[in-house]
Amino acid sequence: MSANVLVTRRIPDESIGMLDAACGVVDVNPHDRAMTRGEFLEAVRGRDGLLCLLTEDIDDEVLDISPGLKGIAMYAVGYNNVDVDACTRRGIPVTNTPDVLTDTTADIAWALIFATARRVAEGDRFVRQGRFAGWGPLLMLGSDVTGKTLGIIGAGRIGTATARRAAGFSMPIVYTSRSRSEAMERLGARYLPMDDLLRESDFVSLHVPLTPETTHLIGARELDLMKPTAYLINTTRGPVVDEKALVQALREGAIAGAGLDVFEREPELQPGLSDLENVVMLPHIGSGTVATRIRMGNMAAANLIAMVSGEDPPNCVNPEWKQYRT
Ligand code: NAP
Repeated sequence: MSANVLVTRRIPDESIGMLDAACGVVDVNPHDRAMTRGEFLEAVRGRDGLLCLLTEDIDDEVLDISPGLKGIAMYAVGYNNVDVDACTRRGIPVTNTPDVLTDTTADIAWALIFATARRVAEGDRFVRQGRFAGWGPLLMLGSDVTGKTLGIIGAGRIGTATARRAAGFSMPIVYTSRSRSEAMERLGARYLPMDDLLRESDFVSLHVPLTPETTHLIGARELDLMKPTAYLINTTRGPVVDEKALVQALREGAIAGAGLDVFEREPELQPGLSDLENVVMLPHIGSGTVATRIRMGNMAAANLIAMVSGEDPPNCVNPEWKQYRT
Protein backbone atom coordinates (compact mmCIF):
# COMPACT_ATOMS: atom_id res chain seq x y z
CA MET A 1 0.00 0.00 0.00
CA SER A 2 1.37 3.41 -0.89
CA ALA A 3 -0.18 5.33 2.00
CA ASN A 4 1.83 8.27 3.30
CA VAL A 5 1.39 8.69 7.06
CA LEU A 6 2.71 10.97 9.79
CA VAL A 7 3.35 9.88 13.39
CA THR A 8 3.74 12.97 15.57
CA ARG A 9 5.94 11.42 18.27
CA ARG A 10 8.12 8.36 18.61
CA ILE A 11 5.93 5.49 19.84
CA PRO A 12 7.00 1.89 20.59
CA ASP A 13 9.11 0.32 17.77
CA GLU A 14 6.70 -2.59 17.41
CA SER A 15 3.89 -0.19 16.45
CA ILE A 16 6.09 1.73 13.99
CA GLY A 17 7.03 -1.68 12.53
CA MET A 18 3.35 -2.42 11.89
CA LEU A 19 3.01 0.88 10.02
CA ASP A 20 6.25 0.34 8.07
CA ALA A 21 5.02 -3.05 6.93
CA ALA A 22 1.67 -1.68 5.76
CA CYS A 23 2.31 1.84 4.47
CA GLY A 24 4.52 3.29 1.75
CA VAL A 25 5.86 6.26 3.72
CA VAL A 26 5.95 6.51 7.52
CA ASP A 27 7.45 9.72 8.87
CA VAL A 28 7.97 9.98 12.61
CA ASN A 29 8.66 13.27 14.40
CA PRO A 30 12.46 13.06 14.86
CA HIS A 31 12.50 15.22 18.01
CA ASP A 32 12.13 13.98 21.57
CA ARG A 33 9.42 16.57 22.16
CA ALA A 34 6.05 17.52 20.77
CA MET A 35 6.15 19.25 17.39
CA THR A 36 5.59 22.97 17.39
CA ARG A 37 2.37 23.99 15.66
CA GLY A 38 4.43 25.25 12.69
CA GLU A 39 6.38 21.98 12.39
CA PHE A 40 3.17 19.99 12.64
CA LEU A 41 1.32 22.02 10.01
CA GLU A 42 4.28 21.63 7.66
CA ALA A 43 4.56 17.89 8.29
CA VAL A 44 0.87 16.97 8.04
CA ARG A 45 0.38 18.60 4.62
CA GLY A 46 -0.51 16.07 1.93
CA ARG A 47 -0.73 13.00 4.21
CA ASP A 48 -3.16 10.10 3.82
CA GLY A 49 -3.10 9.24 7.50
CA LEU A 50 -2.15 10.75 10.83
CA LEU A 51 -1.26 9.09 14.14
CA CYS A 52 -1.17 11.81 16.76
CA LEU A 53 -1.21 12.62 20.45
CA LEU A 54 -3.01 14.99 22.77
CA THR A 55 -0.33 17.58 22.05
CA GLU A 56 -1.67 18.21 18.53
CA ASP A 57 -4.81 20.25 18.08
CA ILE A 58 -6.73 18.87 15.12
CA ASP A 59 -8.95 21.62 13.78
CA ASP A 60 -10.16 23.10 10.49
CA GLU A 61 -6.73 24.61 9.78
CA VAL A 62 -5.13 21.14 9.90
CA LEU A 63 -7.93 19.53 7.90
CA ASP A 64 -7.80 22.30 5.24
CA ILE A 65 -4.13 21.70 4.50
CA SER A 66 -4.44 17.91 4.42
CA PRO A 67 -7.53 17.26 2.27
CA GLY A 68 -6.38 13.71 1.48
CA LEU A 69 -6.55 12.51 5.12
CA LYS A 70 -8.38 9.18 5.29
CA GLY A 71 -8.19 8.88 9.04
CA ILE A 72 -6.83 10.20 12.33
CA ALA A 73 -5.63 7.68 14.92
CA MET A 74 -5.24 9.04 18.42
CA TYR A 75 -2.62 7.48 20.68
CA ALA A 76 -4.92 8.01 23.70
CA VAL A 77 -8.42 7.19 24.84
CA GLY A 78 -9.29 10.88 25.38
CA TYR A 79 -9.62 12.94 22.19
CA ASN A 80 -10.57 16.40 23.43
CA ASN A 81 -7.80 17.85 21.20
CA VAL A 82 -9.67 16.75 18.05
CA ASP A 83 -12.53 18.72 16.56
CA VAL A 84 -14.45 15.52 15.90
CA ASP A 85 -17.42 17.30 14.31
CA ALA A 86 -15.12 18.98 11.78
CA CYS A 87 -13.61 15.57 10.93
CA THR A 88 -17.05 13.98 10.59
CA ARG A 89 -18.27 16.74 8.26
CA ARG A 90 -15.31 15.98 6.01
CA GLY A 91 -15.90 12.24 6.12
CA ILE A 92 -12.79 11.52 8.16
CA PRO A 93 -12.91 8.78 10.82
CA VAL A 94 -11.19 9.38 14.17
CA THR A 95 -10.08 6.53 16.43
CA ASN A 96 -8.85 6.22 20.01
CA THR A 97 -7.33 3.51 22.23
CA PRO A 98 -9.99 2.42 24.76
CA ASP A 99 -9.73 -0.47 27.25
CA VAL A 100 -6.01 -1.22 26.84
CA LEU A 101 -5.09 1.53 29.33
CA THR A 102 -8.02 1.23 31.71
CA ASP A 103 -6.35 -0.79 34.48
CA THR A 104 -3.05 1.06 34.20
CA THR A 105 -4.80 4.41 34.63
CA ALA A 106 -6.96 3.14 37.50
CA ASP A 107 -3.74 2.00 39.19
CA ILE A 108 -2.30 5.52 39.01
CA ALA A 109 -5.50 6.92 40.58
CA TRP A 110 -4.84 4.53 43.45
CA ALA A 111 -1.17 5.49 43.60
CA LEU A 112 -2.37 9.06 44.13
CA ILE A 113 -4.96 8.06 46.72
CA PHE A 114 -2.22 6.47 48.82
CA ALA A 115 0.39 9.09 48.05
CA THR A 116 -1.87 11.91 49.22
CA ALA A 117 -3.49 10.22 52.22
CA ARG A 118 -0.27 8.66 53.52
CA ARG A 119 2.01 11.58 52.54
CA VAL A 120 4.26 9.31 50.46
CA ALA A 121 5.93 11.97 48.29
CA GLU A 122 6.30 14.36 51.22
CA GLY A 123 7.84 11.57 53.31
CA ASP A 124 10.30 10.73 50.55
CA ARG A 125 11.38 14.38 50.33
CA PHE A 126 11.74 14.50 54.14
CA VAL A 127 14.04 11.46 54.23
CA ARG A 128 16.14 12.62 51.26
CA GLN A 129 16.62 16.01 52.87
CA GLY A 130 18.19 14.28 55.89
CA ARG A 131 15.39 15.45 58.19
CA PHE A 132 14.41 11.99 59.46
CA ALA A 133 15.63 11.89 63.07
CA GLY A 134 13.96 8.59 64.06
CA TRP A 135 10.49 7.16 64.59
CA GLY A 136 8.09 9.62 66.17
CA PRO A 137 4.61 9.02 67.56
CA LEU A 138 3.29 12.16 65.88
CA LEU A 139 5.58 12.19 62.87
CA MET A 140 3.93 12.88 59.50
CA LEU A 141 0.55 11.43 60.36
CA GLY A 142 -1.78 10.87 57.45
CA SER A 143 -5.33 9.73 56.87
CA ASP A 144 -6.72 6.22 56.69
CA VAL A 145 -7.80 4.84 53.35
CA THR A 146 -9.46 1.64 54.56
CA GLY A 147 -13.15 2.14 55.28
CA LYS A 148 -13.31 5.66 53.82
CA THR A 149 -15.83 6.64 51.17
CA LEU A 150 -14.64 6.73 47.56
CA GLY A 151 -16.53 9.09 45.23
CA ILE A 152 -16.23 8.43 41.50
CA ILE A 153 -17.19 11.18 39.05
CA GLY A 154 -17.61 9.64 35.58
CA ALA A 155 -18.55 5.97 35.79
CA GLY A 156 -17.01 4.78 32.54
CA ARG A 157 -14.20 2.28 31.97
CA ILE A 158 -11.54 3.90 34.18
CA GLY A 159 -13.97 5.16 36.83
CA THR A 160 -15.37 1.64 37.21
CA ALA A 161 -11.91 0.04 37.31
CA THR A 162 -10.89 2.54 40.02
CA ALA A 163 -14.02 1.67 42.00
CA ARG A 164 -13.39 -2.08 41.61
CA ARG A 165 -10.07 -1.73 43.44
CA ALA A 166 -11.82 -0.23 46.49
CA ALA A 167 -13.15 -3.66 47.52
CA GLY A 168 -9.73 -4.52 48.91
CA PHE A 169 -9.97 -1.58 51.29
CA SER A 170 -13.57 -2.06 52.49
CA MET A 171 -14.57 1.31 51.08
CA PRO A 172 -18.17 2.36 50.47
CA ILE A 173 -18.41 3.71 46.92
CA VAL A 174 -20.62 6.50 45.63
CA TYR A 175 -20.70 7.67 42.04
CA THR A 176 -22.15 10.24 39.72
CA SER A 177 -22.21 10.11 35.93
CA ARG A 178 -24.43 11.10 33.03
CA SER A 179 -26.37 7.88 33.41
CA ARG A 180 -26.73 5.05 35.91
CA SER A 181 -24.07 2.37 35.58
CA GLU A 182 -25.00 -1.28 36.04
CA ALA A 183 -21.33 -2.18 36.41
CA MET A 184 -20.97 0.29 39.28
CA GLU A 185 -24.15 -0.88 40.95
CA ARG A 186 -22.91 -4.48 40.75
CA LEU A 187 -19.92 -3.28 42.77
CA GLY A 188 -22.36 -1.99 45.39
CA ALA A 189 -21.80 1.65 44.42
CA ARG A 190 -24.57 4.12 45.25
CA TYR A 191 -25.58 6.77 42.71
CA LEU A 192 -25.65 10.32 44.08
CA PRO A 193 -26.14 13.75 42.54
CA MET A 194 -22.73 15.42 42.27
CA ASP A 195 -23.17 17.87 45.16
CA ASP A 196 -24.13 15.04 47.54
CA LEU A 197 -21.18 12.98 46.34
CA LEU A 198 -18.83 15.89 47.05
CA ARG A 199 -20.27 16.27 50.56
CA GLU A 200 -20.03 12.54 51.42
CA SER A 201 -16.74 11.41 49.87
CA ASP A 202 -13.37 11.13 51.56
CA PHE A 203 -11.68 10.69 48.17
CA VAL A 204 -13.17 12.24 45.03
CA SER A 205 -11.69 10.71 41.89
CA LEU A 206 -12.36 12.31 38.49
CA HIS A 207 -12.90 10.17 35.37
CA VAL A 208 -15.07 12.24 33.01
CA PRO A 209 -13.75 13.09 29.54
CA LEU A 210 -12.86 16.74 28.92
CA THR A 211 -15.78 18.36 27.10
CA PRO A 212 -17.32 21.84 27.21
CA GLU A 213 -19.65 20.54 29.99
CA THR A 214 -16.85 19.11 32.12
CA THR A 215 -14.46 22.06 31.81
CA HIS A 216 -14.05 23.42 35.37
CA LEU A 217 -16.56 20.85 36.62
CA ILE A 218 -14.69 21.20 39.91
CA GLY A 219 -14.32 24.84 40.92
CA ALA A 220 -14.48 26.91 44.10
CA ARG A 221 -18.12 25.99 44.82
CA GLU A 222 -17.49 22.25 44.45
CA LEU A 223 -14.27 22.32 46.49
CA ASP A 224 -16.16 24.13 49.19
CA LEU A 225 -18.74 21.35 49.31
CA MET A 226 -16.00 18.76 49.97
CA LYS A 227 -15.04 17.79 53.53
CA PRO A 228 -11.97 19.60 54.87
CA THR A 229 -10.51 16.10 55.42
CA ALA A 230 -11.16 14.96 51.83
CA TYR A 231 -8.77 14.51 48.90
CA LEU A 232 -9.28 15.29 45.22
CA ILE A 233 -7.69 12.91 42.71
CA ASN A 234 -7.45 13.98 39.06
CA THR A 235 -6.19 11.47 36.51
CA THR A 236 -8.46 12.55 33.67
CA ARG A 237 -7.72 15.97 32.12
CA GLY A 238 -6.41 19.11 33.83
CA PRO A 239 -9.09 21.58 32.71
CA VAL A 240 -11.78 19.53 34.49
CA VAL A 241 -10.49 21.30 37.62
CA ASP A 242 -10.24 25.06 38.07
CA GLU A 243 -6.64 25.00 39.29
CA LYS A 244 -6.67 28.54 40.61
CA ALA A 245 -9.57 27.60 42.89
CA LEU A 246 -7.77 24.36 43.79
CA VAL A 247 -4.61 26.18 44.91
CA GLN A 248 -6.73 28.43 47.10
CA ALA A 249 -8.65 25.48 48.58
CA LEU A 250 -5.41 23.62 49.34
CA ARG A 251 -3.82 26.71 50.87
CA GLU A 252 -6.81 27.49 53.07
CA GLY A 253 -7.40 23.88 54.13
CA ALA A 254 -10.81 23.73 52.46
CA ILE A 255 -9.75 20.20 51.44
CA ALA A 256 -6.95 18.06 52.85
CA GLY A 257 -5.00 17.45 49.67
CA ALA A 258 -4.93 16.67 45.97
CA GLY A 259 -3.28 14.09 43.75
CA LEU A 260 -2.82 15.26 40.17
CA ASP A 261 -1.58 13.39 37.12
CA VAL A 262 -2.85 16.10 34.77
CA PHE A 263 -2.79 19.90 34.73
CA GLU A 264 -4.85 22.69 33.29
CA ARG A 265 -2.16 24.07 30.93
CA GLU A 266 0.32 21.20 30.64
CA PRO A 267 3.23 21.29 31.05
CA GLU A 268 2.85 24.65 32.85
CA LEU A 269 1.98 24.58 36.53
CA GLN A 270 -0.55 26.84 38.19
CA PRO A 271 1.40 29.38 40.29
CA GLY A 272 1.50 28.29 43.91
CA LEU A 273 0.81 24.62 43.24
CA SER A 274 4.36 23.37 43.66
CA ASP A 275 4.79 25.34 46.93
CA LEU A 276 2.14 23.21 48.61
CA GLU A 277 3.07 20.08 50.57
CA ASN A 278 -0.48 18.68 50.39
CA VAL A 279 -0.44 18.10 46.66
CA VAL A 280 1.19 15.16 44.87
CA MET A 281 1.96 15.76 41.21
CA LEU A 282 2.83 13.32 38.44
CA PRO A 283 3.87 14.13 34.85
CA HIS A 284 0.75 12.72 33.11
CA ILE A 285 1.84 9.08 33.33
CA GLY A 286 -1.58 7.52 33.90
CA SER A 287 -1.13 5.05 31.03
CA GLY A 288 2.63 4.98 31.39
CA THR A 289 3.72 1.36 31.62
CA VAL A 290 5.82 -0.37 28.97
CA ALA A 291 3.16 -2.97 28.21
CA THR A 292 0.30 -0.49 28.05
CA ARG A 293 2.12 1.94 25.78
CA ILE A 294 2.88 -0.96 23.40
CA ARG A 295 -0.79 -1.99 23.45
CA MET A 296 -1.84 1.61 22.77
CA GLY A 297 0.69 1.94 19.93
CA ASN A 298 -0.36 -1.30 18.28
CA MET A 299 -4.02 -0.41 18.60
CA ALA A 300 -3.47 3.06 17.12
CA ALA A 301 -1.37 1.57 14.31
CA ALA A 302 -4.03 -1.05 13.52
CA ASN A 303 -6.69 1.67 13.47
CA LEU A 304 -4.61 3.82 11.11
CA ILE A 305 -3.81 0.93 8.78
CA ALA A 306 -7.53 0.08 8.54
CA MET A 307 -8.42 3.71 7.77
CA VAL A 308 -5.81 4.28 5.06
CA SER A 309 -6.81 0.92 3.54
CA GLY A 310 -10.43 2.10 3.27
CA GLU A 311 -11.64 -0.35 5.91
CA ASP A 312 -13.74 0.34 9.00
CA PRO A 313 -11.36 1.06 11.88
CA PRO A 314 -12.02 -1.00 15.03
CA ASN A 315 -12.08 1.90 17.52
CA CYS A 316 -13.94 4.68 15.76
CA VAL A 317 -15.35 7.52 17.88
CA ASN A 318 -17.38 9.08 15.02
CA PRO A 319 -19.10 6.27 13.10
CA GLU A 320 -21.24 8.94 11.38
CA TRP A 321 -18.18 9.87 9.24
CA LYS A 322 -19.39 7.47 6.55
CA GLN A 323 -22.47 9.56 5.78
CA TYR A 324 -20.19 12.41 4.75
CA ARG A 325 -17.49 10.54 2.81
CA THR A 326 -17.81 11.54 -0.86
P1 NAP B 1 -15.31 6.42 29.28
O1 NAP B 1 -15.42 4.95 29.43
O2 NAP B 1 -15.94 7.07 28.09
O3 NAP B 1 -15.88 7.07 30.64
C1 NAP B 1 -16.21 8.41 30.78
C2 NAP B 1 -17.44 8.50 31.69
O4 NAP B 1 -17.71 9.87 31.98
C3 NAP B 1 -18.70 7.91 31.08
O5 NAP B 1 -19.34 7.11 32.03
C4 NAP B 1 -19.54 9.14 30.76
O6 NAP B 1 -20.92 8.90 30.85
C5 NAP B 1 -19.13 10.07 31.88
N1 NAP B 1 -19.41 11.47 31.52
C6 NAP B 1 -19.23 12.10 30.34
N2 NAP B 1 -19.60 13.39 30.43
C7 NAP B 1 -20.06 13.55 31.69
C8 NAP B 1 -20.60 14.65 32.38
N3 NAP B 1 -20.76 15.84 31.79
N4 NAP B 1 -20.96 14.48 33.69
C9 NAP B 1 -20.82 13.27 34.29
N5 NAP B 1 -20.30 12.19 33.67
C10 NAP B 1 -19.94 12.34 32.40
O7 NAP B 1 -13.80 6.87 29.26
P2 NAP B 1 -12.55 6.17 30.01
O8 NAP B 1 -11.91 5.18 29.12
O9 NAP B 1 -12.96 5.78 31.38
O10 NAP B 1 -11.57 7.45 30.08
C11 NAP B 1 -11.96 8.59 30.82
C12 NAP B 1 -10.96 9.71 30.61
O11 NAP B 1 -9.74 9.41 31.28
C13 NAP B 1 -10.52 9.96 29.17
O12 NAP B 1 -11.44 10.76 28.46
C14 NAP B 1 -9.20 10.65 29.35
O13 NAP B 1 -9.40 12.05 29.37
C15 NAP B 1 -8.73 10.20 30.73
N6 NAP B 1 -7.47 9.41 30.70
C16 NAP B 1 -6.36 9.90 31.28
C17 NAP B 1 -5.20 9.16 31.29
C18 NAP B 1 -3.95 9.66 31.93
O14 NAP B 1 -2.86 9.38 31.42
N7 NAP B 1 -4.01 10.35 33.04
C19 NAP B 1 -5.17 7.89 30.69
C20 NAP B 1 -6.33 7.42 30.12
C21 NAP B 1 -7.49 8.19 30.11
P3 NAP B 1 -21.71 8.26 29.61
O15 NAP B 1 -21.31 6.82 29.64
O16 NAP B 1 -23.14 8.47 29.94
O17 NAP B 1 -21.25 8.99 28.37
